[in-house]
Amino acid sequence: MNQSVRLTDSHCHLLSIVKKGGDIAQVWAEFLAAGGTWLLDVGIREDDVDERIALTSLGPQLRFSCGVHPSETADLPNWDRLVSRFQNPLCVAVGEIGLDWYRGRETESQQLQNFITQLEIAEQVGRPVILHVREAMKEVLTELKRHPRVQGVFHCFSGTPEDAQEALNLGFALSFAGNLTYKSSETLRQALKIVPRESVLFETDAPYLSPVPVRGQRNEPHNVRHTINFASEILKIDPAELCDQTTQNFEKLFAPVLIAGE
Ligand SMILES: [Zn+2]
Repeated sequence: MNQSVRLTDSHCHLLSIVKKGGDIAQVWAEFLAAGGTWLLDVGIREDDVDERIALTSLGPQLRFSCGVHPSETADLPNWDRLVSRFQNPLCVAVGEIGLDWYRGRETESQQLQNFITQLEIAEQVGRPVILHVREAMKEVLTELKRHPRVQGVFHCFSGTPEDAQEALNLGFALSFAGNLTYKSSETLRQALKIVPRESVLFETDAPYLSPVPVRGQRNEPHNVRHTINFASEILKIDPAELCDQTTQNFEKLFAPVLIAGE
């Protein structure tokens, strides 16, 4: 891929890259050199948003989202302040939000409460949501059906083809991360095959989940191209074309706010 490619990383965590020793100027330069068109820096807490807004000065290709991750149940978030973040036109989505039963269900009721509150915030501010779902697909689908005006994307989709179909039926996009390239992810590759081209996004979830061939290293946004290249072989489509398609999909999902932010 070269500079005429329009590359989008629909989900990464820039502050976490910095915390893991990444040089953010270098990371940004490499993303642009790889054809970087859009990069979405995704929130997991409410109280670090000012620090994250400071990073948006990197370039006009950068957008951010605000939300409280399902693992962040220790403190009660300041919901009014979260809502006020959406006055910033660069804040294009509510997320990442969702349910995560992977580490046990002790925080189940707090997670559910935070998730529902943030689905309501998404309705209120008119933004799409970025969903984190781990071993809780059924419960997430139930809540989404109760909030039919909410649209968005399943981030780091890791479900079965049947799960994918359920998400698609609700009009959601599916975003695939570096784990698509792992040997053990055969079911995930089967799921990718059933997703219409207009509903696919790719992401790094950097600094986590580095794709093959950089697995084990700190992940960075430009590595999304490895996942897209890998997916293009599964889908038998030209990688540059898949890149462009997923950039268009990103623009469509976040369109009203991307334009407002320009
Ligand atoms: Zn994430």
